[in-house]
Amino acid sequence: MIAIGIESTAHTFGVGAVDEKGNVLANETDSYKTESGGMLLDQVAKHHEAVVDGMIEKVLEIVGTENIGIVAYSAGPGLTPALFVGFKKAKELAARLGKPLVGINHCAAHLSIGEITTGTKNPVFLYVSGVNTQVISYEGGKFRILGETLDVGLGNALDKFGRDIGLGFPAGAKIEEMARRGKYIVLPYTVKGMDVSFSGILTKIQNLYKKGASPEDLCFSFQETAFAMMAEVAERAMAHVDKQELLLVGGVAANKKFCEMLQIMCEERGAKFFKCPMQYCGDQGAMIAWEGLIRFKEKRFITEINPYWRVDEV
Ligand code: AMP
Ligand code: MG
Repeated sequence: MIAIGIESTAHTFGVGAVDEKGNVLANETDSYKTESGGMLLDQVAKHHEAVVDGMIEKVLEIVGTENIGIVAYSAGPGLTPALFVGFKKAKELAARLGKPLVGINHCAAHLSIGEITTGTKNPVFLYVSGVNTQVISYEGGKFRILGETLDVGLGNALDKFGRDIGLGFPAGAKIEEMARRGKYIVLPYTVKGMDVSFSGILTKIQNLYKKGASPEDLCFSFQETAFAMMAEVAERAMAHVDKQELLLVGGVAANKKFCEMLQIMCEERGAKFFKCPMQYCGDQGAMIAWEGLIRFKEKRFITEINPYWRVDEV
């Protein structure tokens, strides 16, 4: 059986396909971007509308329609106008093929594709994307959030500062590049138990920027501070649930410095650090297809959208 997966929670639209062993057969994506300014909701939905039909047909051409068993889609969490585009098209495709429609949780999909592509077994998950920043562990039959951001996700915080200094959207990679030339400035380091907060850092660097501080120094210091906070809470979570594997998923995993710091933390405690392969770290359809297969077999899925669906509610 082949599963089709449609992703449309945020700025990326994706259609992917996997088989029952988790082999990725197709994975097409197209992301909304800006030269300057952040993302506008109606523009994101328009972007997705414009690419969806071509992308679905391309994936069907690659995998054929005979063996398709389910049509999965991201039911949430996400931006409602964007979610609706994927939901509507998934519903149409499922009806056209006469196959079940399987609505799954986008965050759980990030975790599941990370596990299958790295071969980790029951790791502590560090899920750091645009909107999401969470430390997660699978305990007692479900994902539990052990710690999370109390305000913005780390990716969004990076993007917000990037927008302030004219880097366009998304800004994470450009900030990483600028950080290579920066020096350290002390910033608010906010860890509360296993939760983190980035708004203090943001306010501080926005003010320092207005006063003429070097953007390179601010990028470097932002990264050092935020990544150290994440390494601290990840380590605390691993100690708490007594697990020897850490798996990083989500778009911020692209950051080499971040991975280096997590790698060192894991080595120092005799644990293993894993990073989801980059092509499966960001939002894409293959992870939706794979999570769809898992939840279809468990009969744990929905057939509507839920923009506020937390991973611990799956
Ligand atoms: P996702 O929401 O999982 O698609 O991830 C997108 C987020 O990852 C955006 O906020 C990007 O700015 C961020 N990102 C992408 N590349 C990097 C990088 N090299 N360093 C830090 N953040 C990044
Ligand atoms: Mg995501």
